[in-house]
Amino acid sequence: MLIVQKYGGSSVADAERVFHVAKQIIAAKEAGNDMIVVLSAQGKTTDDLIAKAKEINPNASRREMDMLLSTGEQQSVALMAMAINALGGRAISLNAAQVGIETTNAYSDARIRKIHSERIVNELERGNIVLVTGFQGINMLGDVTTLGRGGSDTSAVALAAALRADICEIYTDVEGVYTADPRIVKDARKLDEISYDEMLELASLGAKVLHCRSVEVAKKYNVKLVVRSSMTDAKGTEVKEDCKMERMLVSGVAADKNVSRISIMGIKDEPGKAFEIFDLMAKEKVSVDIILQSTGHDGRQDISFTIGKDDLDVALKSLEENKERLTAREIAHDDDVAKLSIVGAGMASNPGVAAMFFEAMYDAGVNIQMISTSEIKITLLVAEKDIEEAMIAVHDKFKLASVNMRKA
Ligand code: ADP
Ligand code: ASP
Ligand code: MG
Repeated sequence: MLIVQKYGGSSVADAERVFHVAKQIIAAKEAGNDMIVVLSAQGKTTDDLIAKAKEINPNASRREMDMLLSTGEQQSVALMAMAINALGGRAISLNAAQVGIETTNAYSDARIRKIHSERIVNELERGNIVLVTGFQGINMLGDVTTLGRGGSDTSAVALAAALRADICEIYTDVEGVYTADPRIVKDARKLDEISYDEMLELASLGAKVLHCRSVEVAKKYNVKLVVRSSMTDAKGTEVKEDCKMERMLVSGVAADKNVSRISIMGIKDEPGKAFEIFDLMAKEKVSVDIILQSTGHDGRQDISFTIGKDDLDVALKSLEENKERLTAREIAHDDDVAKLSIVGAGMASNPGVAAMFFEAMYDAGVNIQMISTSEIKITLLVAEKDIEEAMIAVHDKFKLASVNMRKA
């Protein structure tokens, strides 16, 4: 078999973890498999590098940030190669330039366009375990790019797709995908399997166990994807197209604290205003999430929307500069907010789900600021201080801790 494995930061955090993983990789190789292994930066390395950059220049260019952050992954693969070689295995480390992982030009948020397989195939044929840096690529200029935080998952799945691997195993610090973040909801339950679509929603709504785009790529190329622990032998979660399992009404709960809200008040109630606001945001490359427009009164109306915390400064600057043109009386913002979402393929056909969600918030005394729904998800905006309590409350409400409570 050709196996792609990916180990996250905590799985390779120190020498002891590195040797533990090295032994696991060697064992898989000795069992007769070809091994491609993608690694993240060790422990908190990426955060530490960001902190270091902020000390020097808080407005550093994205290009230089990528140049810096990509070094974390390069350390990991080199150290792992040394560990495997020390244990008598044969490994070679490669960075994105050496493999040929081509991406778009967008520094810090690049998309993979093409992966060259020749070098990896050659190394595999020579009997090497191939260790590849996660998170990074190279763009048309030959510069280093990164794929966004958590992007090593996407590197692994894209490599599995490009090399037609038999399986892509994501090793992390929890035993699989749970009904909610097991660090917050203590009785969250591990799922044996989850569909690509549900996983895509959970990941895009804040469940960071998988990078959102890794799930997109897995779905597109039908990559067999498993999430499991690097610390235990537990079976893990299969992410796949069709789940034989009964369709749960709600399969998971996700929270996202990387949210801020902007409210533009007292805008003249006339055609074109929403267009003007969101055109400004588009020009600043700010992606807008939940939008709420009030019904007008006295010829005026309010529009509120949410964006990522990192985008708040540039969004506010652009809106303030255009306040008069937008006919806005006041522009307010709040970054102590968070999104709480429930996801489930069985939700579409069951109108009672939203009411249960709101009831759980009412029982927990949590105020709802905004609501957004789709076929398979409902998202609420709440105060950031309430998010953990709200998450536990909704998880409890839908009894996600016990098996087979609900059927679609
Ligand atoms: P890695 O460094 O291995 O990539 P991450 O920290 O990126 O690991 O992702 C794993 C973390 O995701 C877990 O430690 C857990 O706290 C969090 N998480 C959030 N939601 C979920 C979920 N539904 N199931 C499992 N883990 C989750
Ligand atoms: N090291 C990068 C990060 O911390 C990529 C990853 O871990 O997937 O975001
Ligand atoms: Mg991760």
